[in-house]
Parts: sequence; structure tokens; C-alpha cells
Amino acid sequence: METKKLKIGLAGNPNSGKSTVFNHLTGGHAHVGNWPGVTVEKKEGKFQFQDYEVSVVDLPGIYALTAYSMDEKIARDFILREKPDGIVVIIDASNLERNLYLATQLLELGTNVILNLNMMDIVRNKGMAIDTKKLSQIFGVAVVETVASKGEGIEELKEAIVNGLKKKRDSLRIDYGEDIEMEIDRLEKRVSISGYPSRWVAIKLLEGDREILEMAMREGEAIEFQTVDSKKRLEEHLGYDLETALVEKRYAFLSGLVKESVAKRLDLMERLDISDRIDRILVNRYLGIPIFLGMMWLVFQSVFTLGGPLSDGIEALMGWLGESASAGIGSLGGPKWLSSLFSDGIISGVGSVLVFLPNILLLFLAIAILEASGYMARAAFVMDRFMHALGLHGKSFIPMLMGFGCNIPGIMAARTMESEKDRILTILVNPLMSCSARLPIYTLFAGAFFAENQGWVVFSLYLLGIILAIIVARIFKGLFFGAEVSPLIMELPPYRMPTVKGVLIHMWERGSLFLRKAGTIIFLGVILIWLLASLPFGVEYASKESFIGQLGSSFSPLFKPAGFGFWQAGVALLFGILAKEVVVGTFGTLYGVEEAGLKEVILTHFTPLSAYAFMVMSLIYIPCIAAIATIKRETNWKWTFLTVAYSLFLGWFLAVGIYQIGKIFL
Ligand code: GDP
Ligand code: MG
Repeated sequence: METKKLKIGLAGNPNSGKSTVFNHLTGGHAHVGNWPGVTVEKKEGKFQFQDYEVSVVDLPGIYALTAYSMDEKIARDFILREKPDGIVVIIDASNLERNLYLATQLLELGTNVILNLNMMDIVRNKGMAIDTKKLSQIFGVAVVETVASKGEGIEELKEAIVNGLKKKRDSLRIDYGEDIEMEIDRLEKRVSISGYPSRWVAIKLLEGDREILEMAMREGEAIEFQTVDSKKRLEEHLGYDLETALVEKRYAFLSGLVKESVAKRLDLMERLDISDRIDRILVNRYLGIPIFLGMMWLVFQSVFTLGGPLSDGIEALMGWLGESASAGIGSLGGPKWLSSLFSDGIISGVGSVLVFLPNILLLFLAIAILEASGYMARAAFVMDRFMHALGLHGKSFIPMLMGFGCNIPGIMAARTMESEKDRILTILVNPLMSCSARLPIYTLFAGAFFAENQGWVVFSLYLLGIILAIIVARIFKGLFFGAEVSPLIMELPPYRMPTVKGVLIHMWERGSLFLRKAGTIIFLGVILIWLLASLPFGVEYASKESFIGQLGSSFSPLFKPAGFGFWQAGVALLFGILAKEVVVGTFGTLYGVEEAGLKEVILTHFTPLSAYAFMVMSLIYIPCIAAIATIKRETNWKWTFLTVAYSLFLGWFLAVGIYQIGKIFL
């Protein structure tokens, strides 16, 4: 087989690794001589690949294709005059923007080029990723990654030299802007140097390249005057020197290109550094707590603003389902109780809870974003100072924050506390953190009575929970554990951009728990309530005479001083122990309406004041059975009983207090 011959040059900035690549390509068998006429060392070597014999010249390191220094002149002469089959541009990829400058000049000239991104090990260590495919597309040339010092990627480079240089492509066109482009255009029409693209010649003339000007003048004297004329006109327009303008435009192009094709994952030190700067504000002694409160407020505002329209959609669907179910059962000749079970019981009850799914998902979404970004840890840190002032620990604030989603993971998260006393305290107060199951209650009542200030009202309840938790913990600490606080270090991980996928997964993991609960415990609770409301036989559904009416009536007078002493409220609270969502579900079932209708009904039973007292009661009184079971599992009966007892008493006491004091002022 006949061997084909190729001649290539290695060009690149000094220290980009040219000689290292050269040695690997040629196996170090270099022939060292001098460039004709000058005593700058010239290394030439050869390698065989497939049916090619490739001779390689290691050119002196240069930054641009100008001819100011001897090195530049040699490299440029080789490229312009010896007409090699191609140039491999060795690029220090860890300094891409600067190193690509030479490559763009060669590409403008229309030289057959292969880009060799060397020093990829440094790039990777810096946490950067270069989109070589994109670079290759933009430039229309082969791009090969190497770590020349380790010989990595050399075979691929050989392959690219032999196969990648065959393709013919257009010269790169950088847009130099309207003014300059006009003069390039003008000159381009008047010059020609055989073997060089006329656009490139025009640009070189504008750059003031002596050698090119001399070559051009050989073809026609007038070109000198035209060039001077163009340059003068341009510099007047631009107001500064033309060469700078051209270089600037090329760098503008490169800077855009690098932004497009380089993804920079900040390395850890940089991230810590940036985090530090952000923290100067977010965990600032004075700003930290207001910012935290502002964040929480923002979360609730957006949860309600965005969730509203979605809830309306689900509500409409439920209303339609209820009607269709009872109509369908009626037309099939089904018994009346069956249609009541479906429309009054299941669909009203479960539906009135499901309506809050968008709000709950949005809340979990917000929590997931705050956690993933690293802000949650800051919230705990910020609260640490505050909590220390109260003799408590900032670290117990994280389980408390988790309690906002659901108290069960919150209670379990207390396991991370080093001290047993702190752990038990954190568990005891966790139910005071307003979990997402209470949200339907707030949404219903705040929506009915405080439509304008929903966000504020709900925010106030969350805040009340936090404050109570801190006070209660302080008291219990004094009562049961003694006063000292063990020193602990608060972790502050660097901030990071949450990923969409990660955040959505977290949202769904927790949000689907709510759905499962709606399908099981809430579903069963609602059926039980419906049964108790329908029995004994013959009684009017959900009347005072039904079992549930009697049950509720037996203890509802206890809540009279709190403003909601009617039996439906008593029943709602009682069944709310199954799961707090059931409070709303019970109203739905008892009144046989979904959310919109429920608002109407509730407006007739409550006043704004008693509604607020009821929300406070719902927030504080007895945790749901799942939470009670978790407390038992994590501690013992004594602490479990204490939690149930204090929360019931505290809830009642506060609800009554709010109602009684409120009555004086309102
Ligand atoms: P030249 O000036 O372009 O000929 O560059 P050299 O080949 O002399 O290399 C300059 C320095 O970079 C030398 O110390 C090489 O060992 C080193 N070097 C070359 N390629 C790589 C690489 O891929 N990774 C790293 N980390 N160093 C390299
Ligand atoms: Mg060298």
C-alpha cells in the first residue's frame, strides 16, 4: 500500500504543552535544526498512522498571528508560506478564552485546523466542563482533548490529524460590527493576494500588517491610499485606535463562545468563599432574623397566591364528582343511603381535604428549595443565638423546621441531638410546629374570614407555634432537666443551586404521604363520621340527635368560652386527632358540602374572633395519633402522656384567652 504524506505544524501559546504533545506524537525522535536564516531551534519529527506518514513541526509559542517578534514571524511564515496540510493548535484548556485567540486567527485565515484541548486534567480539577461538541460545531473543526503530560488522548489526536484534516470548511467569520464591516467590505473588493481569502487580507490591512500591505501593493499601488483612507475614517468613527477595536471584537466573540461552551462548577473553596459573602448578610447579627421571617412570609404568600387557582380547579372537580355520584346512584335505583355515603361522606369529606393538595405540594416545594440551597441550615444558625438566649439549642431548630412539613420526621430528626435531654425536649415541643396537615384548617378559616390577609394570618399561626415551642421547651427544661446548655457547633454547608429534579423528588416524597393519608386514614375517618352521623336509623343526617351529634354535644360546652361551643366543632376536633386534616373533612361530611359551600356554612357558625381561636386550638391541641405513636416510639409513655396533656390544656387555655380578651377589644 502506498503511504500518503501529511505535513502539519503544532502552534499554540508558550507553555500550552506543544513540546510535550510533539514528543508523544513523534516518540521523541526529533530532528533538531535551525529555521532557515535564523538561530531559533526547529524541531521536526515523524509518526506513522494507518497508511499515513505525518511529519510534524513544533513551532515557537505565539499568542497571535502578527509578526512583531522573531518567534511570531517564524510561526507565521511557516503557516502562510509553507502551506502545511494543517495546523494543530495546542490549547491550554484551563485558560480557554486567551488560548483560543490564536485559533480564531487561524480559522479566519481559513487554515486547516485541529483544536487540541490540552491540560484537561487541570480543567477537571477546577471543576469545569468544556462542551467540546459545541466548540467543534461552532468552529467546524475537529476538537480533541488530551492530557499530554500523561500521554492521554494522543492516539485520538493522531486519528484526528489523519482523518479530521481532510474536510474543507469555510473560514470563520467574526462580526466586527457595522462600521468596521463596511470598511472590510470596501477593501475586500479592491485587493486580492492569491492564496489568501480577501476578507482576511482586508482585516490584516486594517490591522496595519506591514507584510500583507507590501504583498497587496505588489498587486496594485492604490491599495495603500485606500487602506489609510479606511483606517482614518474608522478611527474617527470609533474614537480609538483600530487595532484595539479589532482585538476587542475578537475577545468579545471568544468570551461569548466560552460562556456557551464551558460549564463551570465552582470548586469547593470558591463556593465556600461565595457562601461566606452571602452569609455576611443572611446570618448577620441584626438582619438574620428579619430575613428569616421575611423568607417564611414570602413562602406562605406564594403558597397561597399560587395554590389558590389550582385549589379552585380541584374543588370544581369534586363538586362535579359529588353531583354525578349521587345522580348516578339515584338513576340506577340505588338506595338513598348509598348516595349519601358517596356524596355527603366520602366525596365531601375526602374532597374537602384534597382541595389543599396544591397548597401542601407548594409548601413542600418551598421547604425542599430552602433545604437544598443550604438556607435551612442558616435558619437554624440564625435562630441559634435567639435560642441560646432562651437556654435552648439552635440545633433543635432543624427538627422543628422539619415539623413544618410533618411532625413525624421532625420528631425522628431529633435523633441527631447529641444530648438526651435536648433530644427529649425537642420532641416534646415538635407538635407545636405547624405541620402541613393543619394548613387545610387555616386555609379554610382564614380564607373565609380573613380573605384579604390570609398570608398574614397563617404566618401568625406558624410564628405562634414557634414561640410557644420555645417557651414550652424553656419551662420543661427548667422543670425536668436543669438549666445548662451543652455547647454545639452549627454546621453551615456552602450554598448550592438546587436542582429541579432533586427538589421535585423531595416535594413528591413528602406530598404523596399526604395523598396516601387522604386515601387511608382520612377516608376511613370520614366513613366513620358519616356512619355516626347517619345512625341511629331514621335520624336526620348529621343532626344533633345522631350519634355523632350526641357525642359532640356531650363535651362541646367545654369550648363555649372559646367561642365555638357547638357540637360540630367538638366533633371536628375529636376526629382531628386521627389526622388534623380530618378537622376540615369532618365539617365537610357533617355539612355535606365541599370547600366553597363549607366557607359559607362556616361563616354562619363562627365570627372572625372565634375562627381565629379555633385555628389556634387546632394548631396546639393533641398531636395526631401517628405523631403520638412516634413520640411513644422515640421516648416512653411518660413523655407521650405529658405531650398530649400539655398540648390539650395549652390549646384550650390560649383559645379561651384569645376569645375572651378579643371580646373586650372588638
Ligand atoms: P510548550 O511551551 O507549549 O512547548 O509547553 P511544554 O510542552 O514545554 O509544557 C509546559 C509545561 O506544561 C510542562 O511542565 C509540561 O509538563 C506541562 N504540561 C504539558 N501538558 C500538560 C497536561 O496535559 N497537563 C498538565 N497538568 N501539565 C501539562
Ligand atoms: Mg516548547
